[in-house]
Amino acid sequence: MAASGKLASFRLPPLPTVGELIKLYNLRAEKQLSQNFLLDLRLTDKIVRQAGSLTDAHVCEVGPGPGGLTRSILNAGAADVLVVEKDTRFIPGLKLLSEAAPGKLRIVHGDILTYRMDRGFVANISKPWEEDPPNLHIIGNLPFSVSTPLIIKWLENISNRSGPFTYGRTRLTLTFQKEVAERLTASTGSRQRSRLSIMSQYLCTVHNCFTIPGRAFVPKPKVDVGVVHFTPLVQPQIQQPFKMVEKVVRSVFQYRRKHCHKGVEKLFPEAHRAELTQEMMQKADVDPILRPTELTIPQFRALVNAYAQLCTQEPGLVNYEYREELKLKHLARKRNMPMDTVMDT
Ligand code: SAM
Repeated sequence: MAASGKLASFRLPPLPTVGELIKLYNLRAEKQLSQNFLLDLRLTDKIVRQAGSLTDAHVCEVGPGPGGLTRSILNAGAADVLVVEKDTRFIPGLKLLSEAAPGKLRIVHGDILTYRMDRGFVANISKPWEEDPPNLHIIGNLPFSVSTPLIIKWLENISNRSGPFTYGRTRLTLTFQKEVAERLTASTGSRQRSRLSIMSQYLCTVHNCFTIPGRAFVPKPKVDVGVVHFTPLVQPQIQQPFKMVEKVVRSVFQYRRKHCHKGVEKLFPEAHRAELTQEMMQKADVDPILRPTELTIPQFRALVNAYAQLCTQEPGLVNYEYREELKLKHLARKRNMPMDTVMDT
């Protein structure tokens, strides 16, 4: 049966197995590129099923490598699959696959971190943001070093409705190191609750689908892998600029075991720290002795809104960075100079 169910009518013709292709093109996994391949098509079918129905879908697959997941996407009935692969060695194998699925597979040799996905698909697949998601999916088994910066970039794109989200609420099905998958989906009060939990959940419905044991990959990575599905929300749970949300959330989680006011304090310059922290906590009506992991998304929303109000009253605040102040202090001490003199140098 095809990966996405009985409806899919297209099946790839008999092809060399992914393992045979790897041998044929001598595709040794590059350690520096953290390449770990999935050769078991039942497993790649299972990942693809998490995306939902792919009948006639447009799909961007990131990092197809030898093409195991790509085969499952094609067998699930996708009409238009755009693969973005950084490593040239995989291009001949992908071309073979493209010949076996005429008109269905487009190959881009490039870096997904810079690829302009807003230009990759025809505009008429777009759906208004408030409607159901478009029939466009992003699917990928990427190296962990790429998947985390990439999801942060895509979350920012969701908040601006840019990049892959110019087409509407494009859904994503991606792999992460198991611990990162747990952080992305952690609920209030759980041990894994972190900056990533808030950043992903204020913008998306996030689902930790299943865990793939490391031994399923060739070569075997040291860690297990989690498959995570994201659907952007019609209405973000926090309606402030992404960078501002990120700044507040990062500051709060800076002291994840302490009371949350400790992280909030670091949003403000030392001279006004105590009174502005108190004002922000009161405006937000959040108990300052809660731990960061105990805060709900509505409480983060209240904190970010309170911070935004303070920034409107005092525009200089928005550019204040605690780390910069620390660096300047350190420099002033080293040079035996007053802080404001160091700031002018
Ligand atoms: N999808 C294949 C599979 O499941 O067997 C390969 C997975 S391997 C973990 C990651 C793939 O992503 C490799 O083919 C690697 O060359 C590719 N890759 C790594 N960084 C990339 C980037 N920045 N842009 C596009 N592809 C990338």
